[in-house]
Amino acid sequence: MLKEKLEKLEFIDLQAQRRLIGDKIPQAIEKVLHHGSYILGPEVLALEQELLAYTQAEDVITCANGTDALKLLLLARQVGPGDAVFVPTFTFASTAEVVAESKATPIFVDVCPHTFNLDINSLQQALETLDKKLTPKGIIAVDLFGLPADYPSIQAIADQHDLWVIGDAAQSFGGSINNQKVGSLAATTATSFFPSKPLACYGDGGAIFTKDKSLATLIRSLRNHGCGEHRYDHIHIGLNSRLDTVQAAILLEKFKIFPNELKRRNEIAHYYNNALKEVVQIPITPKNMGHAYGLYTIGCPGGKRDELIQALQANGVPTNVYYRKPLHLQPAYSQFPRASSKLKNAELACSKVLSLPMHPYLSDAQVEYVCEQVKKAL
Ligand SMILES: *Cc1c(COP(=O)(O)O)cnc(C)c1O
Repeated sequence: MLKEKLEKLEFIDLQAQRRLIGDKIPQAIEKVLHHGSYILGPEVLALEQELLAYTQAEDVITCANGTDALKLLLLARQVGPGDAVFVPTFTFASTAEVVAESKATPIFVDVCPHTFNLDINSLQQALETLDKKLTPKGIIAVDLFGLPADYPSIQAIADQHDLWVIGDAAQSFGGSINNQKVGSLAATTATSFFPSKPLACYGDGGAIFTKDKSLATLIRSLRNHGCGEHRYDHIHIGLNSRLDTVQAAILLEKFKIFPNELKRRNEIAHYYNNALKEVVQIPITPKNMGHAYGLYTIGCPGGKRDELIQALQANGVPTNVYYRKPLHLQPAYSQFPRASSKLKNAELACSKVLSLPMHPYLSDAQVEYVCEQVKKAL
């Protein structure tokens, strides 16, 4: 394989996307500079309309980042001391951080060994063994690496126990179940537009999707200091968590190419899957689901991960590990309750997962090269 191709092989290549969009982003930013409506300007409303049309959610509220999107939902639900919220342990810190920060108790639940998403049996176990001093309030499911969680099963359990459900879709915008898009899969969904996520801005950004109009009205107030009809009426204790107009303008441009990007991510994953299925654990996508491939993550055969990382690195293939430690074993979170003493699927996953380069601008030759190198190293 030619050396010049390797030099461009990036884990996520934001510059390739930028070259494709050309001067559209500077023009969009220039427009904002011209009208000067930097906070909740027309681009923010336009983006919310686009997101609504794409996801078919009932309502969407943009906000400052994905963590705040989760936090605003907990704030709207008045989650606080004595409340228990069930979260998978194999996820980014935000999922549990927002619960702990609201002074409620995150309860760690194991994940399924194949999809890496919330394991229903472990969730049941967590509910059955919950400390009687805590009141179960809700479940935050995570669409890890871009695969939607099993929302129909999760919602069924939530209904039995009178719990709410939040989808943490920070990695899965564009994913689907039965052709219904992320954003309309759970009663409430939080997503992130952090630069490395499937739909991303050039800074921080996030959004909340909901089927509940009155909840949406409350969150729209909470993200803007709990304001009422007038900007200096305060009817709730809220946050400053608005999406910048400049970031909304950037997202509007990037949204135009998003459907093509999602298609290309899936083509690349399809190629990886076929080429690698005999040598590693490939990502599983249930038949009725659409994967957003925010990340392409394999399971390495026993004990071979570090060797593989080094061999790939030596041959110009960047990789990353999401995540090396489940949250229940992190110093800041180890004191919180868990479904069982060991969350063994998550612990095993942390010891073997490896994410390969995944972005829509990988060439066929690059994808082929990555596969060759993985096979050679194993
Ligand atoms: C990125 C991420 C978040 C947080 O999003 P930010 O916009 O960075 O705050 C939350 N949950 C998961 C699973 C993520 O990957």
